[in-house]
Amino acid sequence: MKLVFASNNQNKIKEIQSILNGSIQLLSLEDIGCFEEIEETADTIEGNAILKANYVREKYGYDCFADDSGLEVTALNGEPGVYSARYAGKQRNADDNMNKLLDGLKNKEDRSAQFKTVIALNIKGEQHLFTGIVKGNITLEKTGNQGFGYDPIFQPENYTETFAELPLEIKNKIGHRGKATQQLIDFLNTTK
Ligand code: IMP
Repeated sequence: MKLVFASNNQNKIKEIQSILNGSIQLLSLEDIGCFEEIEETADTIEGNAILKANYVREKYGYDCFADDSGLEVTALNGEPGVYSARYAGKQRNADDNMNKLLDGLKNKEDRSAQFKTVIALNIKGEQHLFTGIVKGNITLEKTGNQGFGYDPIFQPENYTETFAELPLEIKNKIGHRGKATQQLIDFLNTTK
């Protein structure tokens, strides 16, 4: 069975392919000749994952899955959420985004937050959603230099380090994306 992952990130695609049972062949957007940017216009993380998976299903006719992620901060009513990548503006700059977030939390006591990934899978005429969440807190300042995005200011529950200080294997294991991906893989590996 051929299944499109609505992404061009070859690392992500290879990683998931290697864990899938042999009956599923993963294709990237490039593999199916989709070179246009799929606009993420929904106002929820779920909505954007669904929008991308539906676009590929409807326009190219392939079964497909797509993911979308974001950081939800309790004291900011769930912001930046679906706008995580462009929180401080179109330049999509991680430092600017983190500064804006730290500013917004200056006088707030509650620094709890969660990362969320939603994967939308369109397969055999059905849609399935898989959600991965990691809870934690926003630190007072940036620490660590690994990872990307908000990693230097997110400290997962039960750890004293930020995501930008923890080894990638740990982030993958306890993280939002890893958890959602594992659910997808478990589902696909038991699907005939
Ligand atoms: P995407 O949907 O995976 O592209 O994530 C959207 C945005 O959420 C990213 O551009 C980051 O700002 C933020 N984000 C998502 N996952 C992570 C993560 O694991 N660490 C830090 N930031 C993340």
